[in-house]
Amino acid sequence: MRQFTKNQPPKLNPTWQQRQIDWAAELVANPSISPKSARVSYFDTIPKPDYRPALSNEQDGLCAYCESRLSFDDSGSPDNSNEIAHWEPIAAPGGLQLMLEWKNLVLSCASGESCNHAQGDQPLGIDAPHARDWSTKMQFQSSGLASSTDPDLDRALKVVRVDGERASELKRARKAAIDGELAEIQRRFSVRTVSRRYLNERVEQLRACPDSFVSARLEHLRKRLAKATMP
Ligand SMILES: [Zn+2]
Repeated sequence: MRQFTKNQPPKLNPTWQQRQIDWAAELVANPSISPKSARVSYFDTIPKPDYRPALSNEQDGLCAYCESRLSFDDSGSPDNSNEIAHWEPIAAPGGLQLMLEWKNLVLSCASGESCNHAQGDQPLGIDAPHARDWSTKMQFQSSGLASSTDPDLDRALKVVRVDGERASELKRARKAAIDGELAEIQRRFSVRTVSRRYLNERVEQLRACPDSFVSARLEHLRKRLAKATMP
């Protein structure tokens, strides 16, 4: 989970603000509305292709949960397979109130076995990645498995980690990203003499880079940095 900056919702017609006003009025008139009806009437009817690009731009084209690259069509727009997800699910306590809050919406990787699908109706119990930088609290094994010593974050990672084929795929992709950094180090230095200067520069480069799985690469570089003795 990489931190990103949350903007205002794009000004489109019908405007997000008008939808929020209509939804707030409905919630007052019908406070016992079921999450399912609320979703069908007030969320599923949103012209989502109009809103996906803004969400994707905020997230540098990456899934807000797993940092994989979103899916794009030939014109470069995030395609319809990317799910608009609720950080606090609609069916979670307080979720109805947040259903149309722009800050509660993130773009998840493609449908099917996506992070959003894995989360389902379960609250993650942690702030969204635009409100807090979780990336420095994540640990990655060389197999690509993600975990955290922060118990709340670790629990959230377990919720969105899909079991089965997709989990293996994600681990493989993270492992490849980590291995890419290690290969570059080995190409430039003998393993024992990697320079702190190179590692620091690479960390700065990656921090500004919209690539997939940057958190995993950064964690491995920081571990190297802690051990590096050459200036
Ligand atoms: Zn994802």
